[in-house]
Amino acid sequence: MFLTITSETAPATDLGYLLHKNPASIQELPLTMGTGRIYYSEASEERCTCVLQIDVDPIAQVRDRSHGKGDGRFALAQYVNDRPYVASSYLSVAIAQAFGTALGGRSKERPELAATPLALTVSVAAVRCPRGEEFLRSLFEPLGYEIEIEGIEIDASFPEWEQSRYFFLKLRGEKLLREILAHLYVLIPVLDDAKHYWVAREEVDKLLRHGEGWLEEHPEKEWIVDRYLRRFRSLTTEAFERLAEGSDPETEEEAQALPEERIERPMSLHQQRIGAVLTALRSLGARTILDLGCGDGKLLQELLRDKAFTRILGVDVSVRSLEKAKDRLKLDRMRPAAKERISLAHGSVIYRDPRFAGFDAAVLVEVIEHLELDRLPALERVVFGSAQPTRCIVTTPNREYNVRFETLPADKLRHGDHRFEWTRAEFLAWCEKIAAAYPYRFRILPLGPEDPEVGAPSQMAIFER
Ligand code: SAH
Repeated sequence: MFLTITSETAPATDLGYLLHKNPASIQELPLTMGTGRIYYSEASEERCTCVLQIDVDPIAQVRDRSHGKGDGRFALAQYVNDRPYVASSYLSVAIAQAFGTALGGRSKERPELAATPLALTVSVAAVRCPRGEEFLRSLFEPLGYEIEIEGIEIDASFPEWEQSRYFFLKLRGEKLLREILAHLYVLIPVLDDAKHYWVAREEVDKLLRHGEGWLEEHPEKEWIVDRYLRRFRSLTTEAFERLAEGSDPETEEEAQALPEERIERPMSLHQQRIGAVLTALRSLGARTILDLGCGDGKLLQELLRDKAFTRILGVDVSVRSLEKAKDRLKLDRMRPAAKERISLAHGSVIYRDPRFAGFDAAVLVEVIEHLELDRLPALERVVFGSAQPTRCIVTTPNREYNVRFETLPADKLRHGDHRFEWTRAEFLAWCEKIAAAYPYRFRILPLGPEDPEVGAPSQMAIFER
């Protein structure tokens, strides 16, 4: 991925002050999924160009797998098609990390410069736009850019292959640097329609902050908000309301105080897991949720944020975990309307409990492996035989993946309290056993990035009655 920013307002090298980067040196930027490099390809009075180059590790992996299939273009196409999650939201994170001060419209040394429109050109290689070139124009034209777009052929030697959805994009305009960076920051992940991190509530603040002054009036506003927030209804509703009201100064101040990197913290495996469970619950249309083995309440907290979930019960055998969940949820200070939706209960998944009955969905996130194997039949009877939720989601580690954790000694389990960890085949066999004994169908999905040999780090079964 490449982003170049060129200034042609003399003295053009002032760009270095704004970007906080010295034109004479190459700077490395450690990113969670690869490396960024920032350097200047030209630096004269008339023209100065800063390059942000990002090398994402998975590209190299795919290239390795394609063993001698030419010049890497095939590998790139494969990577881009197969692995959209790494695509362009990653560039936004890199922009925030590399040029955070400029994106915030600040400059310590030259504050007046940050407030001066410059003759700027940015080019991005490549943006993904499945809706084609016209749509790309309809996003950037209303923002007052002169636009150049060049389609990238998938492979010149196979003209019959469909035209690629990837484009080189060049934008030119008299703009504040802050404006141009904010446009890219919001629109690139939107175009790509995928984010490599999980969309949480902070994303609404971020969208409104970087969208300030242009998003309110953009003709494609609805589409942008919808995509930026990954179509999560509760988040898009909030965003539209706040866009209509004008910004909320208090939230904005809070957001300003938060370094961008923290907001953009990369998604841990556990966050991915919780994100996947939430997505599954939403798409199943479940409204009442039983979180068995809720631990310190990370999933509960997310469930509570979405009003689509009307009744939530968190159960754990550990009183200490329940106390932590209570603190996390701020249960004592909760508004009555929220308090009505959620409760915590001390209980065990291996004892029949009338409180577990009548839920649209039960979830067991990384819980079964904490039980002795010989207690699992009791759990099966309690959950599938007695509580009988309409759906049940179970996640558990995939032991095969452990070889990919460099710091984990061979044959060790991931957690001191795990009594077992299953391979994909073992988990499948367990799910089949349940489906044979109780009236449930199931499917299994990988959780986390999938390795071609050993699968994904975690696995998720969705049972439906
Ligand atoms: N679901 C949470 C916690 C996973 S850790 C999360 O994903 O963050 C496993 C949890 O299961 C612990 O909180 C542990 O106390 C709980 N647990 C273990 N045995 C249990 C049982 N028999 N009944 C209910 N909870 C149990």
